[in-house]
Amino acid sequence: MKKIAIYGKGGIGKSTTVSNVAAALAAMGLTVMQIGCDPKADSTRNLTGGVPIPTVLDTLREKGDAELSDLVLKGACGVLCVEAGGPVPGMGCAGRGIITAFEKLAELNAYKIFKPDVVLYDVLGDVVCGGFAMPIRGGYADEVCIVTSGEMMSLYAAANIAQAVKSFGQRGYATLRGLILNAKNFDNEQELVAKAAGEIGVPVLYRLPRDPLIQQAEALGKTVVEAFPASPLAAHYRQLARLWAEDPDGGECSCPL
Ligand code: ADP
Ligand code: SF4
Ligand code: MG
Repeated sequence: MKKIAIYGKGGIGKSTTVSNVAAALAAMGLTVMQIGCDPKADSTRNLTGGVPIPTVLDTLREKGDAELSDLVLKGACGVLCVEAGGPVPGMGCAGRGIITAFEKLAELNAYKIFKPDVVLYDVLGDVVCGGFAMPIRGGYADEVCIVTSGEMMSLYAAANIAQAVKSFGQRGYATLRGLILNAKNFDNEQELVAKAAGEIGVPVLYRLPRDPLIQQAEALGKTVVEAFPASPLAAHYRQLARLWAEDPDGGECSCPL
């Protein structure tokens, strides 16, 4: 089982990237579980027709307990979808919520029962506190990838996340595999991200183009991989999926963006 945590600033394109790669991996015949670790709870929206699924925390609050079938829902291409969810707005700790959700999934033997080949954690990286660092430090993820654009705030978040991974990495937890540039298309963006990657000491694993096809697919409640499988963008996601699934050593990006 390969377990990858994808971090990045809110709104940078983590869920879009993760759900497209999840769909691509599933289409390759792999069993994939996508776990949204963002109180927004919209990680898997493009795998479920745009319809939100019940979150682990909401289910626990409403029912007092939960069965696995309440928490893990099969989405498009057979991707196993989970949303950790968050506290009632203004109350409680979102990080603690992630820990509670993980503990519940472990208690219900989610991995033993579904036997995923790949688990993708889609994690908000604006605050790298103990709770949001859970996938890095709890032995949950083996590898971390950071989605970023060339924007300063997004690179700032990437540097913070990298620092957290490195400090936990020394203790044998997840290792930082590299950055994924999700382009915003401004001048020198590739150079800025390459420079930041060099400073962090990791490669730019992949460069994804800015593409309005994402909004068209979103309007259908679908991933680009599902809605427009013949598009160049879907091919990018499939290539990134192969990289994540098959090449644990990573390497510099060779896509022609
Ligand atoms: P995050 O999960 O990091 O908060 P999302 O994946 O929800 O971010 O992306 C935020 C919005 O950005 C999405 O609604 C999507 O329409 C848009 N988006 C993401 N990646 C791209 C891209 N490569 N090209 C065009 N739009 C994108
Ligand atoms: Fe919880 Fe982290 Fe927010 Fe603190 S910063 S309340 S630990 S989610
Ligand atoms: Mg998201």
